This record gives sequence, structure tokens and C-alpha cells, in this order.
Amino acid sequence: MSDQAHSLRTPIVAVLGHVDHGKTSLLDKIRGSAVSDGEAGAITQHIGATAVPLDTISEMAGSLVQPSDFDLPGLLFIDTPGHHSFSTLRARGGALADIAILVVDVNDGFQPQTEEAIDILQRTGTPFVVAANKVDTTPGWNPVEDSPIKPSYDGQSDAARSRLDENLYELIGQLSDRDFSADFYWRVQNFRNNIGVVPCSALTGEGVPDILAVLMGLSQRFMKAEMEIDVEGPGEGTVLEVKDQQGFGATLDVVVYDGIIREGDTIVVGASNEPIVTEVRALLQPRPNAEIRVEKQFEQVDSVGAAAGVKIAAPDLDNAIAGAPVRVVRDRPEEDVVEEVKAELAEIEVGTEEE
Ligand code: GDP
Repeated sequence: MSDQAHSLRTPIVAVLGHVDHGKTSLLDKIRGSAVSDGEAGAITQHIGATAVPLDTISEMAGSLVQPSDFDLPGLLFIDTPGHHSFSTLRARGGALADIAILVVDVNDGFQPQTEEAIDILQRTGTPFVVAANKVDTTPGWNPVEDSPIKPSYDGQSDAARSRLDENLYELIGQLSDRDFSADFYWRVQNFRNNIGVVPCSALTGEGVPDILAVLMGLSQRFMKAEMEIDVEGPGEGTVLEVKDQQGFGATLDVVVYDGIIREGDTIVVGASNEPIVTEVRALLQPRPNAEIRVEKQFEQVDSVGAAAGVKIAAPDLDNAIAGAPVRVVRDRPEEDVVEEVKAELAEIEVGTEEE
């Protein structure tokens, strides 16, 4: 086993929560701040995900994240909150997302999809931070743009702060009803036993530095061993979406969490019937600087290593299903890989039956 071939990959972060509680806004804020604070091109747009390197996180989080304290390369945020990645995370036992942000509107508290997200996080044992969002809507709130939350919180009027506290304690109580011991994140000593609640606003950016700091801390403390991968190993990933792409037919949007996938590789993909065995025809990434939501602007790459999002074009993908595993065969018996994929699919079926 050569040391050179091993490295620490980027932890994969899912953003979960009830509709309208601010998942998309929070992701947009993180992406937006990374673009304006970081060097040009410091964040990388992937298919279905955004990679934010450690240096950029550190710029955004200021004194809360010192790059020298970390050896994980950054964070990969899954961009598609609340749809397939949601059921995928549920089904896959946490392999898709390593850590999560549970976004809760601080005025609204727990709602049905919050409960659902908690179920998944509990079952998969996924470490998470609670983003108690929309603190700026607290009556009398005096926003401090993009500030860490503690100075902003301390600087509010007593009236505003106690209004917010009321909501935050309600939320901490709701977490406790679900058997999570939670507290204001700055009081949490042991993030393995206690859930940190970060008051924040996806609109003003307050508390966003703290969310990034807690995510980096959780990853570094509790996930590091799992981040160690063989960078040359056969790629493994999870299908986020199956999409028809002009000129390519059915394609897969995949998050790769281990090894490497190369053009021409034989892959096994979970499907509604028997697993599909096919050959990668093209690996597609958004063109740098292209409008990220415009679908057609792809460029072809030769290979994609974990952790990353990528669009895979290959023949015969029509019956592939979101949430299913993708495995590169490489120098293993194909039947073994097919059996592995079948076994994983059986788990997914259990997951979806529970919906
Ligand atoms: P999602 O459904 O969870 O992705 O929620 P969105 O990000 O689409 O947000 C739902 C609505 O809440 C939008 O109108 C946002 O502008 C608004 N919103 C999200 N975060 C905040 C926040 O921190 N403060 C305020 N005032 N509004 C917010």
C-alpha cells in the first residue's frame, strides 16, 4: 500500500430541513460569500455539488477557522437540498453525506420535514449542526452582516435577545424530545454527545462563519478516519439524479465518495430491475465560470476523484434510479461488483418502504 495513493478527501455535506426554512438561501449565501471573499475560482462548481476549499472557508469564517488546525481539504456541499439527496441519504446509511446542516426556521420550529430529517440523521448516525435560521426576523434585531454570531447576539438589545432566546430554547426542547441533547453551540464542549445550535441568518450572513467552523470541527474530530481514501481505487458513488441530456440520452448525476472514475471504465449501476453493467462514455462537469444553472454548458473530463459531483454519460442508463450505488469494476470480478450493488439496493428498498 503506497502512501502516495492515499489522501484525505473532502467531507460531503447535506443541507436538510423543512421547505422554506432556508436551505437554498443558506447554500446560496455560502457560495456567494465564497465567490466574493475567495480568490477567483476558489470554489468549484460540480454537478450537483459545490466544493469550497479550506482556505476559502477560513477567509469566510475569519478567526473561527485557522487553516493550520485542519488537514481536511475543505467541504463539498450537495446542492440539491430536499429532493433526491434526501431520500438517498436516508437509504444509504450516511455514505452519501458525511455530515449535515439541519436548517430550522427559528420562528417556526420543528415541522414535518424537520422531523423526517431528524429520523434520517438519527438512523444513519450522521453528525449534524442545527442552523437556527432567520434570526434577523426577530423583532428589534440589529443585523451585523456576515458576522460570527456571538458578537452580533451579544450586541442586540435585551428585548431582541430574549425574544430570540425564547425561540432557541423552544428549539433545544424540541431536539431534546427527540433524544438529542442540544445547546447554543458556543456552550457545547463535546460535539459527539451534544448538538450545537447556531443562531444564523441566510439573508444577512450572521452565524454562517460559525456553521462553517462547526462543520470543519465535526469533520476533523469525528470523520477524519473515514475521509482517508485510496485516490487510485475503483470509484464509488451515489446517483443523485437520472436525467436525459441532449446528445447523450439518459445520464447520471453522481456524487463520488471514494476512489476514481475514469472515462472508459466499466461501471455497475443500481437499477429498477437488474443492475446495469455499462462503460463510461463521458464524464461531464459544468464549464468554469458558466452560469451554473444553465444545463448545457459542460466540459468533458478524463477522470473524477472523490469527493466530487459529476455527470456520467454511458449507454443503457434508462432504468437507473436516484439513490442507487455506482461502482467502478476495475480489476475485480464483475459478478462480485454486481452482487455488492444488489446488496446495497436491497437496503435502499428498505429505506423507501419506510416513507
Ligand atoms: P428552502 O425551501 O428551505 O430552500 O428555503 P429558501 O431558501 O427557498 O427560503 C424560503 C424563503 O425564506 C425565501 O423567501 C427566503 O428569502 C427566505 N429566507 C431564507 N433564509 C432567510 C433568513 O435568514 N432571513 C430571512 N428574513 N428570510 C430568509
